[in-house]
Amino acid sequence: MERYVYMDYAATTPVKKEVLEEMMPYFTEKYGNPSSIYRIGRESRAAIDEARERVAKIIEAKPKEIYFTSGGSESDNWAIKGVAFANRDKGNHIITSKIEHHAVLHACEYLEKHGFEVTYLDVDEYGIVDLEQLKNAITDKTILITIMFANNEIGTIQPIQEIGKIAREKGVYFHTDAVQAIGNVEIDVNKLNIDLLSMSAHKFYGPKGVGVLYIREGVKIHPYIHGGAQEKNRRAGTENVAGIVGLAKALELAYENLEEHNKKLVYLRDKLIKEVTNKIDYVRVNGHPEKRLPGNVNFSIEFVEGEALLLSLDMMGIAASSGSACTSGSLDPSHVLLAIGLPHEIAHGSLRFTLGDFNTEEDVDYVVESLVKIVERLREMSPLYENVKEGK
Ligand SMILES: *Cc1c(COP(=O)(O)O)cnc(C)c1O
Repeated sequence: MERYVYMDYAATTPVKKEVLEEMMPYFTEKYGNPSSIYRIGRESRAAIDEARERVAKIIEAKPKEIYFTSGGSESDNWAIKGVAFANRDKGNHIITSKIEHHAVLHACEYLEKHGFEVTYLDVDEYGIVDLEQLKNAITDKTILITIMFANNEIGTIQPIQEIGKIAREKGVYFHTDAVQAIGNVEIDVNKLNIDLLSMSAHKFYGPKGVGVLYIREGVKIHPYIHGGAQEKNRRAGTENVAGIVGLAKALELAYENLEEHNKKLVYLRDKLIKEVTNKIDYVRVNGHPEKRLPGNVNFSIEFVEGEALLLSLDMMGIAASSGSACTSGSLDPSHVLLAIGLPHEIAHGSLRFTLGDFNTEEDVDYVVESLVKIVERLREMSPLYENVKEGK
């Protein structure tokens, strides 16, 4: 096995060299606790303050609206539970969609066990939420709308500005899980009327275990982790200084090269889609044709199991992901693919490739070539496919 092709950038990304370089001193000589008053403590504090400014600048926020967390899951949980419990006197209703990440869905399910009501909006065949259904779902008890910016499985980008406008007009807080969108899409929290936004560094070439929750000034929210006075008394715990510095650097790099990065990924993505759909029959491309993340490809390949595809790809040195949740030991197909209307058996044969900065055209060629062989071999074992081919 010579080639190794990583096409699972939506799962995580490698840390860029420049990012690691900026982080390194904070593990060793600059190890002071940011809450300490002596010099090396103050230096850590200054690094965090500076990172907060760097992050704020990119999404047009104020530095004091940026809170560092342990990642996307924590930011989502904090936003949803924190707003829910702080606004209980106003109402107990939350609106989300059926295709959210589990960090959002499971936080909402938890709240349902504690007296809250949640509406899960449908999406169309491309994975886009229905704005009319959203408007109709809002009641005088609605306190929060939480809808993801871009979907992690099928890459669909939501009409965030319109959703933000609806929320603002109705006086309802709007949170968006932007974990997949950050580093791929320009985000201005003011233009888009976003009140809370989650991000995670390891999805944009930063380190794992560090993220941000943007909280617009004035939003009523409870603290999530109780303890020391860090993050303005709202998120206790000694700060992950190196991680925070790495997050800021990775975010800056992502937006410095945004246009170039997107152009390259769209080219590779479209090439992969074109060649696979040309060379393999009974393939469908899931997600929206235009309103999708630059690096996301999601196929449903009929008459094969997603799991079998993944194992065969792995043997050929290709890292991809299944559209179904089988990898986590469950046989249920992905809630996202079911929500866009795929039947169970087709959802089971789904495959996600997410491209990133280190992919090349040769990677795409190798994936296409390998996939054609694998699908051919797996289908030889499928009586159903033989029947279809023979027109039975
Ligand atoms: C990865 C991901 C998360 C979780 O982020 P972590 O930092 O891994 O906790 C949340 N939402 C979406 C859309 C994601 O892709």
